Amino acid sequence: MQIYDVLILGAGAAGLMVATHLKRYNLLILEHNPRPAAKIAISGGGRCNITNQILSPSYYLGDKEFIATVFKAFDNHDLIHFLQRHGLEPVIRKGTQYFCPTRAQELIDLLLQTSAGVNIVYETEVQGVEKVEKHFRVTTSQGVFHAKTVLIATGGLSYSRIGASGIGFTIAESLGHRIIPPRPALVGLTLQPEQSWMKALSGLSLPVMVSVGRRTLTGDMLFAHRGISGPVILDTSLYWNQGKITIDFLPGKKLKSLFKSPNKTAMTQIPLPKRFVKAFFDALELPNIAYKAMSEVQKQKLSWLKSYAFAPAGTFGYTKAEVTKGGVATDEINPFTMQSRLVEGLFFAGEVVDVTGQLGGYNFQWAFSSAVVAAQGLSLQLSSD
Ligand SMILES: Cc1cc2nc3c(=O)[nH]c(=O)nc-3n(C[C@H](O)[C@H](O)[C@H](O)COP(=O)(O)OP(=O)(O)OC[C@H]3O[C@@H](n4cnc5c(N)ncnc54)[C@H](O)[C@@H]3O)c2cc1C
Repeated sequence: MQIYDVLILGAGAAGLMVATHLKRYNLLILEHNPRPAAKIAISGGGRCNITNQILSPSYYLGDKEFIATVFKAFDNHDLIHFLQRHGLEPVIRKGTQYFCPTRAQELIDLLLQTSAGVNIVYETEVQGVEKVEKHFRVTTSQGVFHAKTVLIATGGLSYSRIGASGIGFTIAESLGHRIIPPRPALVGLTLQPEQSWMKALSGLSLPVMVSVGRRTLTGDMLFAHRGISGPVILDTSLYWNQGKITIDFLPGKKLKSLFKSPNKTAMTQIPLPKRFVKAFFDALELPNIAYKAMSEVQKQKLSWLKSYAFAPAGTFGYTKAEVTKGGVATDEINPFTMQSRLVEGLFFAGEVVDVTGQLGGYNFQWAFSSAVVAAQGLSLQLSSD
């Protein structure tokens, strides 16, 4: 019976990064797709938003101390140096975001080159993991594999059409780990009937400020057939579970200062696309009259342009979500090694863990940082054997 040093479950961003750092061991990667890193290939509009110039746990949903500990070991600067050392010079776009110079495949090629020699078994679906005395038995569609240690890097549930699965959560739970309920995140939000007026604006994009819980987020909101989307709404979905969000359609502007011409109708003085203003007035049954002629109730309704509060109905779901929030609870993982505190020899990295970032390269940064820490932890564990 062959016993591997490490079985890596999933040849995605995290799994490949671990392989890169552990080449001297007897590793095997199990992957159910016919090729590696399907998500990297389609990410960032095909150019992969790898990381960000600005990194802090505040861009993440999850335990801030846990995240900070992982980033102390390997942060955005370390990632950029790693990529540069291996010949990939990321370029900055959209302000502070790092992308591949031309296409996401460059990053996949780099990961495959730096992990060259590590065997990847494709079209092999991982079905379960058991600990039998001192080693692990991993059951797959191609038979049973044995190893001293196992790394779960199978990601989350978003985009099942390219191989995403919840197997990591199932395995972790079967081995005694607590799972924070997974939910789609970085995803559009659907609307209640009262907000259906927004659907008629499909295709329109506006800069807005959104308040969700104690967070305030600014950016572009896109009206869509199914509801609302765009970068600021995708980030909102990270922090939204249920209940109301509030949208300021005129960020940085004071409402009263808009109505300087007393005889002009309020509608014509609002500096927003006509289509939006008309739909807003119709939905709130506001008359097309001058501001000063409005009743107090009408002025109050008009002020909702600055604070339109409503409860979204739900999200566009896992088929559209860039990530899955929730996952393996971090209080049962050691942030210095990414090893399970419950099962010796079991390690986690990437999206399967209950850490989820905003848009901007934060999820790949997490996948790579947690992978490097897991590689260090695995190395320690194997050298102590
Ligand atoms: C459309 C889209 C665009 C995105 N763009 C960005 C971006 O630009 N920047 C950013 O930071 N993040 C982006 N993300 C998020 C990012 O892709 C993920 O957070 C990241 O890939 C997580 O890495 P991971 O290694 O944990 O999981 P994954 O990369 O998902 O890898 C998991 C691997 O496990 C395999 N697997 C799953 N189940 C099984 C099983 N049962 N048996 C065997 N193998 C299995 C999968 O096939 C996959 O290869 C995007 C996501 C999507 C869907």
